[in-house]
Amino acid sequence: MAFDYDLFVIGGGSGGVRAARVAAQGGARVALAEVDRYGGTCVIRGCVPKKLMVFASEYPGHIEDAQSYGWTAHSGGFDWPAFKTKLHAELDRLEGVYRKILGSNGVETFDQRARLRDAHTVELADGRSVTAKHILVATGGRPVKPDLPGAEDGITSNDIFHLDDLPRSMLIIGGGYIACEFAGILNGLGVQVTQFYRGAQILRGFDEEARGLIAEEMINNGVDLHLGTNILGMEPAEGGWRIKATNGTEQVFDKVMFATGRAPNTADMGLEEAGVKLGRKGEVIVDEYSQTGVPSVYAIGDVTDRVNLTPVAIREGMAFVETVFNGNPTPVDHELIPTAVFTQPEFGTVGLSEEEAREREPVDIYCTSFKPMQQSFAGRSDRVLMKLVVSRATDKVLGCHIVAPGAGEMIQMVGIAVKMGATKTDFDRTVAVHPTMSEEVVTMKEPVRGG
Ligand code: NDP
Repeated sequence: MAFDYDLFVIGGGSGGVRAARVAAQGGARVALAEVDRYGGTCVIRGCVPKKLMVFASEYPGHIEDAQSYGWTAHSGGFDWPAFKTKLHAELDRLEGVYRKILGSNGVETFDQRARLRDAHTVELADGRSVTAKHILVATGGRPVKPDLPGAEDGITSNDIFHLDDLPRSMLIIGGGYIACEFAGILNGLGVQVTQFYRGAQILRGFDEEARGLIAEEMINNGVDLHLGTNILGMEPAEGGWRIKATNGTEQVFDKVMFATGRAPNTADMGLEEAGVKLGRKGEVIVDEYSQTGVPSVYAIGDVTDRVNLTPVAIREGMAFVETVFNGNPTPVDHELIPTAVFTQPEFGTVGLSEEEAREREPVDIYCTSFKPMQQSFAGRSDRVLMKLVVSRATDKVLGCHIVAPGAGEMIQMVGIAVKMGATKTDFDRTVAVHPTMSEEVVTMKEPVRGG
C-alpha cells in the first residue's frame, strides 16, 4: 500500500521535531502537525522561559553581593513588562528556529490539531485525512489542577509567563520541580511567596539530605514554606483570593498557582479507538523501543510519562528513528540520567539517593556541607552540599547529589563519570581544581556514615 508519508509526527515539541528532522534527513517523507506553538513545553512554556526567569530573579542577590565586593551598586527595581517583552521576543525567535529546521529539512507542517483515525491514518482538524507508514505521537503533557472549590481561578506554570503584572503575593501549591523552581523565581523577583506542600518534605523522590538543605535555604531566602499543608478551597476576596488551608488558617493572596503535576495529552486523540493502550494517568503505553501495541504507532516524550525531561524526549525521538528508519533497533537507556532542579539553591543529581541505595545494598556515604567562598565573603550564610553514595561491594559511585550555585552545570560533568561506572577510587585519583566548590567531590576522604 502506498502511504502519503513514511512518518507522520503529532506534536512539535522537542521530541517530535527532533524525530521528524532526523527521519527527513535520512530521506523519509515526513509530516508534522502542531496545534499550538512549535517548540512545545520546553521552549514555549517550560525550561527556556523558566531558566530566563531564574536568571532575572538572581540579579537582586548579585547586586547585593557586588556591594560586599566593594562595588557601588543599587537595584532600581524590576521592570516586568520590559523583561516580559524581551522574553517573548526570544521565544518567538526560538519558535522560528524550530519551524525553519523542519522546513529546511523538507518536513511538511500542518498548524492544526491531528488525531488518529486508524493505525495508518491521521485526521486533521480541517477535515483532511492523510496516511503514513508510521505515526509518532509526541503530544507532551499539560499542567493539572486538583478538583477543589475555586481551583479554576488558580493559574499554572503555563500562565506565569503571561501575567500583566507581577503579583504582590502568591501562593504556590505543590512540592515538585515546578512548585519549588517558581517559589525561588518569584521570591527573587520580589513577590511574597507562600508555598504549601502536602507531604513532609519538598522534592519527593530525591535524596533526603539534599531536599532538607534546599528547603532550609528556600526558607532562609524568604519563601514561606508550609509542609504538611494543603489548600481546601479558594474564593474571590478583596485584593485577591481567600484560601482555606488544611492547617485551619485562612489567608488572602493576590494569585494562586497550582504546580500539582502534569498529565499526558491523550484525550480525544483516537488512540484507544485505534487500539493503542493507555495507562492509569492516560499515558501511552510503549515498549523499550517506544512502540505501542499497534505496530505502526510509536510514542515518545512526556505523553508516555516515562522520564519527563526534554533531553530524554529527544533521545527517545532519535532512538525511534534509528530503530524504524535505520534498521538498527535501539532501546532507550533511561538509567543514570543526570538532572537539575533550578531551585535557589540549585540542585544537580544523578543516580541513586542515599535512601534508594540503602534499600539495594550496603553503601558508604561521603558528604560535605560548607559555606562557599564567594557567598561567604559577601556575608551570606548559604551552605552547599556535595554528596557521593558509594557501593561497598564494588566501590562504584551510585549517586551524586549537589546543592550549590551552578549545580546543574556540575552534575552534567559528574554524570559522565557516573555513567561510565567510575569508582570512588577514580574520583580520589582525580586532582582537585582549586579553588572551586566542586573540588570537594574529589577530596572527600572518609565516609560520614556507612552500612
Ligand atoms: P511533580 O509531579 O514533580 O510534582 C507535583 C507536586 O504536586 C508534588 O509535590 C505533589 O505532591 C503535588 N500534588 C499533586 N497532586 C496534588 C493535590 N491534589 N494537592 C496538592 N498537591 C498535589 O510535577 P511538576 O508539575 O512539578 O513537574 C512535572 C514534571 O516536569 C517533573 O516531574 C519533571 O519531570 C518535569 N520538570 C522538569 C524540570 C527540570 O528538569 N528542571 C522543571 C520542571 C518540570 P506529592 O509529592 O505528595 O505527590
